[in-house]
Amino acid sequence: MTTKELQARAIVQTLRDYGFTAYLAGGCVRDKLLGVEPKDFDVATSARATDVQKLFAHTLPVGAQFGVVLVMYDGNPVEVATFRSDGVYLDGRHPVSVRFSNAQEDALRRDFTINGMFYDPVSEQVIDYVGGRQDLAAGLIRAVGDPQARFAEDRLRMLRAIRLAARLEFTIVPETFAAIQDLAETIVDIAWERIGEEVIKILTEGKARQAFILLSESGLLQAILPEIEALRGVEQSPDFHPEGDVYTHTLLLLDKLEQPSETLALGALLHDVAKPLCRAQHGERITFYGHCEKGAEMAVSICQRLKRSRATWERVAYLVKNHLRLLSAAEMRPATLKRFLREEGIEELLALARIDALSSSGDLRPYEFCCRKLAELGPEQMTPPRLLNGHDLIALGLPPGPGFKEILDAVEEAQLEGRLLTREDALAWVQHYRHNAS
Ligand code: ATP
Ligand code: MG
Repeated sequence: MTTKELQARAIVQTLRDYGFTAYLAGGCVRDKLLGVEPKDFDVATSARATDVQKLFAHTLPVGAQFGVVLVMYDGNPVEVATFRSDGVYLDGRHPVSVRFSNAQEDALRRDFTINGMFYDPVSEQVIDYVGGRQDLAAGLIRAVGDPQARFAEDRLRMLRAIRLAARLEFTIVPETFAAIQDLAETIVDIAWERIGEEVIKILTEGKARQAFILLSESGLLQAILPEIEALRGVEQSPDFHPEGDVYTHTLLLLDKLEQPSETLALGALLHDVAKPLCRAQHGERITFYGHCEKGAEMAVSICQRLKRSRATWERVAYLVKNHLRLLSAAEMRPATLKRFLREEGIEELLALARIDALSSSGDLRPYEFCCRKLAELGPEQMTPPRLLNGHDLIALGLPPGPGFKEILDAVEEAQLEGRLLTREDALAWVQHYRHNAS
């Protein structure tokens, strides 16, 4: 048993010792029954937040008004929540009011039957008021109660249904899926932060391709990422893209993501997002000139819509903009290649280029060339110590100004090309350069 589980069990035991009802609850029960290690263990109890705060030495009242307290156990937080039934959701985000209640009502407020079970770690019994066990055994995602009402209450649940179905390879039951299709357009009524967080989980937790197929079928994709839906039917040259249209190609990349960073996952999703806009047909030939640059712009606005950080959208824009640059790496002059390979983000760019190639022609030569060069050159050759700096130029009697950068870059260029090896060579070279310039 993991430390996390032991800690959660100890918290349950303490609450029991003081006469409260307490169980492990929700996702961790589902995962335990599936034989998957839960990410975190949540505790549900009859104790109120104030009781919980009294019983444990280190607590954080993260949502005390909803009865949620974090109990810190050797530095690890365990979420302890009072049994409750949620009131009406006004903004599709937080219940306006909660009413503290019992385990059964707490099960009924949860989103899906498989997420609605409790586990009594003392008697080792599952407590199931919602038929979660049966659905878990059958591989089904089913809303607790009336799906329309439950999705209207909190629209995020629509995305959660798809994320869970894809990740667990479960089927969403027809009634629940039909409700998602009915309400898909209204997903945008909730905060984009929440949508963004969920999209990132979908992209990075595994089975992203399957999730995107469901997002598309449900109408959610059209509502949140119409630019991806627009990739459907965008035909490309069969010689470079035997796999088919841009949509098919993009989904193939998603299939090849393995525990990706947020930025790599978004880069894969968005790398060809401007192809519909940049497509041109010349007889048999189909081109997409400018799609990298235009795609980088679109990537920024999509990341902003999903409320990603500046660091994220800058990196994603870099990946989209440069995703074809590897193709010309073998023809680059040494200095250009070194500068390319030392760019921040190159590792992710290579990872993107690899899955891009594997999802189309299968030609990994440009990717392998760059990997080989990166290893061969190493930081010593890609980023050697500068031969000169601004002080040296001043000492040579040059007037400080914007021209300095140009000169120093030219010195570095010559250094990277192997034409300048020492500081003395570089000083002589600058004097010559200056002489010719004046
Ligand atoms: P994951 O494995 O991704 O953490 P999870 O089901 O554990 O999935 P959490 O966000 O950790 O998801 O939520 C824990 C539990 O809280 C869920 O299993 C479910 O019972 C309940 N829950 C979470 N979000 C909602 C929601 N929007 N509406 C209703 N119940 C929810
Ligand atoms: Mg969880």
